Amino acid sequence: MSWSQKQQSGDMHDQMTILVGSAIRLLRGEAGVFVVSNEAFDPQSSVEHTLYRLSESALPLLLSSVREGRQPNSVEPLVVESIAPDLAGQLGIDEELAERRPITRCSLIVSDLAGPLGVLHFLRPAMVYSCFECHEEAREEAEGEKEGSLYLFIAQLAAGLRFALKSQALVKEQGRLSAIFQHSAEGILTVDNALRIIDFNPAMERLTGWRESEVLGRFYFEVLRPKDRQGNDLGLNDSPILQAFAGQTVVNREMVISARDGQHFDASITASCVRSVWGEPMNGILNVRDMTREREQEEQRSTFISVISHELQTPIAIIKGYASTLARTDVQFDSEAVRSRLVAIEEEADRLNKLVGNLLYASRIQAGGLQMDIAPLDLVPLVEGVVRRLKARSPDVSVKLVLPSNLPTVMADRERIEEVLQNLLDNAIKYSPRQRAITVNCHATGEEVIVSVSDAGMGISLRDQEQIFKRFHRVGSPMSQSTPGAGLGLYICRAIVEAHGGRIWVESTLHEGSTFSFSLPREEKAHLPMVVF
Ligand code: ADP
Repeated sequence: MSWSQKQQSGDMHDQMTILVGSAIRLLRGEAGVFVVSNEAFDPQSSVEHTLYRLSESALPLLLSSVREGRQPNSVEPLVVESIAPDLAGQLGIDEELAERRPITRCSLIVSDLAGPLGVLHFLRPAMVYSCFECHEEAREEAEGEKEGSLYLFIAQLAAGLRFALKSQALVKEQGRLSAIFQHSAEGILTVDNALRIIDFNPAMERLTGWRESEVLGRFYFEVLRPKDRQGNDLGLNDSPILQAFAGQTVVNREMVISARDGQHFDASITASCVRSVWGEPMNGILNVRDMTREREQEEQRSTFISVISHELQTPIAIIKGYASTLARTDVQFDSEAVRSRLVAIEEEADRLNKLVGNLLYASRIQAGGLQMDIAPLDLVPLVEGVVRRLKARSPDVSVKLVLPSNLPTVMADRERIEEVLQNLLDNAIKYSPRQRAITVNCHATGEEVIVSVSDAGMGISLRDQEQIFKRFHRVGSPMSQSTPGAGLGLYICRAIVEAHGGRIWVESTLHEGSTFSFSLPREEKAHLPMVVF
């Protein structure tokens, strides 16, 4: 049975009930229970008793009456004792029957060569005997024969019960394996000894885009089309499952796997093999772990180190250079020369300050959220204020404002939204070296207010547009690389805007210019989300 198929544990339980019920009927009992002995109890199957026409609530009563009486043993495997009529009634025996004849409680020990399996306790009318017992009247005729048949009956019953208990344990184990297979976050596929797929779990479906029904019976190499990290197809000799078949217990490898749509992803593979009792390989098991995230994190770490060291080194070198020049005792500087160098030092210190501030901001975002001071906000004076300050700092930049007179208010944190707009404007200037005309446009829709910053600068390719909101991502063009920056500004903008329940996006054409827009919910529509990054 495949791991993917549903198990019928109910069937196995029925089998046990049928076996216990038939045994009680053959012994001419009316109702009873089979209690598994401690020795035979298997935590895998966790079946402690099986009832036959006896209620769960009557069981403790029956067992306490058993404890007070004689116990069966290997010399006397069946003990029969009479019980009081009211106890028979409490145990659920039909009143009419109990009135006709006294009821007895019988206990039959069930064991085989491997040891005791348990005891079958049952209730039956007095003076009623099964064909396996020797009672007083029959004792003289065929004592040996009857006793022998009771032992034979016990042996048969023990074989059946042992099989049923084992089967139950197996079914439960299979259920557990199936749950692991179905819910594992790692992809798992199994193959037969001809490397044809026989199981393909849901995680594998998510990773590869193939449905299990489409790949069953197919050669697994043809489905995964594995490659090395240089993109060369791997030959069958490199099949980790074949290597596991050839004798290695577990094979760990890294390879690139092709999804159904042709996309590739880095995967860490573990192959192992299931062998027959003769040691021949029967099945191969392949665990597939998607390494994309780890790779991205590795890349991010190394980008972080190179960006940060570059961004820190440049201002530090400039500050140090100017400071040591000014400190020279052998040169006399006029006051203008001193002033211009001090201004340069101040600018570089500001740059350092901004970088450190952004790093702290980014780590706060990562640590679990931003503190927001949300209130109704009129964006018109905010935009005008930010643009006024920008013009004061960069008089050569021309900014066109398109602000409707009746712009609805939004729910937002004033300071944070100023930072977002400031950042977008700084970028518009930084990445538009020749054409320094910027437009800021605000307009409202039924749900939100949208603020856009357009420039006629270098533009961003479609591929990069998807990436620039990620931490430390900077476009690889020489112009972008020579402009100072650590790739944190847009990441911070996105975190702020999304924390307001808004969106941020870019429309851009390479070499023509970009429009960055963000939206904020209108005051009356605002449902601020929990901030989770
Ligand atoms: P930084 O500017 O510090 O590098 P950002 O996160 O603000 O970081 O921007 C990420 C990248 O997006 C920039 O490095 C740049 O390549 C690109 N970018 C941002 N704004 C613009 C723009 N207006 N025009 C062209 N490219 C831009």
